[in-house]
Parts: sequence; structure tokens; C-alpha cells
Amino acid sequence: MSEIERYIAPQAVVEAVKAMAAGPVTILAGGTDLTPQINEGRRKHAATLMNIQRLEGLKDISLVDGEIRIGTLVTVTEIRYNALLTESATILCDTANCFASEQIRNAATIGGNICNASPAGDMIIPLLVLGASVELTSWKDDALFVRREAMKDFFKSPGKTTRQDNELLTAVIFDKPSADFVGKFRKSGPRPALEISTVTVGIGGDLKDGVFKNVRVAFGAVGPTPMRGTATEAALEGQSLNKDVIQAATEAARKDATPIDDIRATTWYRDHLIGVFTEELLNNVC
Ligand SMILES: Cc1cc2nc3c(=O)[nH]c(=O)nc-3n(C[C@H](O)[C@H](O)[C@H](O)COP(=O)(O)OP(=O)(O)OC[C@H]3O[C@@H](n4cnc5c(N)ncnc54)[C@H](O)[C@@H]3O)c2cc1C
Repeated sequence: MSEIERYIAPQAVVEAVKAMAAGPVTILAGGTDLTPQINEGRRKHAATLMNIQRLEGLKDISLVDGEIRIGTLVTVTEIRYNALLTESATILCDTANCFASEQIRNAATIGGNICNASPAGDMIIPLLVLGASVELTSWKDDALFVRREAMKDFFKSPGKTTRQDNELLTAVIFDKPSADFVGKFRKSGPRPALEISTVTVGIGGDLKDGVFKNVRVAFGAVGPTPMRGTATEAALEGQSLNKDVIQAATEAARKDATPIDDIRATTWYRDHLIGVFTEELLNNVC
């Protein structure tokens, strides 16, 4: 394997994106995906390695003009214990609590989980349920250029997103959920955490007077990318969560998902789990 020829650790986003505009750069955040991928020969690195841990302004969780903004360098542990998220977007904290071990959670960043773009990336599921967008920053025409893209459109195939090589993911942003918002997450595996997901399901929406509205459903590890369950959402939108509606949603979830056989589970088992988890979460929503 080729050697790393240059190591940089900028402090300002502008320096980082200028370096990315100048030529190929491999970005290192917590390193919990990148390091094993390089060590095992599954990933090639560029001649320049850029450690982004020192970048200023990317480690905060804030509420501005009704939007919650999570900087790309916020760790899974910080999400788990954050007061604003605990109060208004508990589904993110619950998911963080099912993520790996304490040691990995302390290093793993939200941006790394998103940019690794695994179909089994856990933190992506609650973010899809919250209707989040990614913020991508680059250096263009001698100025900082910032664009947003809805996460539902961001993932293209395993490990691939619409992010261009010169774009740094700087934050993930979503509207603060309403007081009526309820969000639930379920991950497969005999242990609550330390499992690479074979199936994950996230469901959220506003529950008022027994009616479920603005529903979003997301599935992980049942297709080439993390995905929204549009048929499941349609089966639930504006409905009371009675037995018939839950059964219709469970059937729709099985149609939304396109699981494959792989080393961790068969198609049959994944299909079965999708139905079981969808039903279980909906029974727990009310
Ligand atoms: C033992 C173990 C257990 C794990 N368990 C889980 C689990 O339960 N659930 C789960 O989802 N994952 C799990 N993972 C995977 C990993 O921890 C997460 O995906 C983590 O969030 C990656 O974040 P990181 O900061 O370590 O990213 P890194 O490894 O530093 O980077 C990951 C990728 O994203 C790119 N990148 C990082 N930040 C940016 C940015 N700001 N802009 C552009 N590109 C960027 C990097 O270049 C790299 O390609 C586990 C890993 C290990 C080793």
C-alpha cells in the first residue's frame, strides 16, 4: 500500500476545504471506520491525510431559529447525553444507547457515521425519521460555498453518497420536533448494543388525540442504502394506531424493504424482522 505523504490537521473549516480543493485528501474524524478499513486493505487512502478533529465550530449541538444543528464532530456519547436532544429528539439518544461500546461511542462522530454510508449505519435511521439534511461545505470561486441536501436523497449505494470529493460534511440539521412528536428505534441482535445491525427500524411522527401525523419511517440494513419506508408512511399517515392499521403498516414495511442474504442474515430472516419490529414499535408508540 502507498504511504501517507502528508498529514494535516487544520483548525479552521476554510483551511480544510481549501486543502480539499487543492487535491485528493482522505478525511480522518474518529477513525473507527477508516482505520480498520485501511488496515484490512478494504480502503485506499490519498497521499494527504487530513485529521479534522481540531476544526473549530463543529463540536456543538445547538438550537437556532427552530432548527437543531449537530456539528459533524459531535460524538455518539455526546448525542446520548445531550439535554436538548433528550428533551426534544429522544430517538437519537435511544439509538446512541444501542451503538457499539462506550469506547467506540466516545470516538465515533455523527459525521463519520453518515459519510461512511453503510446501509447498517445506526445514527442515520433516527436522522431520516427526523427529516434531517446534511450541510456540505466547499471552497468554490475563492469563497466558502455551503449547500444542504435532504438525507433521504444523500445515499446512493453502499459507501457512496452525493458528497463530492471537495465537500466537507460540516453539520446535520433538522427542524425541532413538535411537542407531540414520538420517535422509536429498534435494532436487531441478542445484545442491546455491540452488534452490527442485521435490521434496524425507526418510526416517528406527531401523535395527537390518538391520530398519527407527519409520519416518517426508516429502515437500515435491508437494502443498498439506509432508506425511507414510503409505503409504510402512507399506511400510517393520519391514522389511529389500531390493530388493522398496524397490520397494514407491517405488510407495507415488508414491501418497502428489499433485504438480501449475506453473512449476517438471510433474506427470509430480515423480512421477518422488519415485520416484527414495525409491529412492536407501533404498539409502543401509543
Ligand atoms: C468495534 C466497532 C463497533 C461499531 N459499532 C457500530 C454500531 O453499533 N453502529 C454503527 O452504526 N456503527 C458502528 N461502528 C462503525 C463506526 O464506529 C461508525 O460508523 C462511526 O460513527 C464512524 O465515525 P468516525 O468518526 O470514527 O469516522 P471515521 O472512521 O473517521 O470516518 C468514516 C468515513 O467518513 C469520512 N468522513 C468522516 N468525517 C467526515 C466529514 N466531516 N466530511 C466528509 N467525510 C467524512 C471518512 O473519510 C471515512 O471515509 C463500529 C465500529 C467498530 C470498530
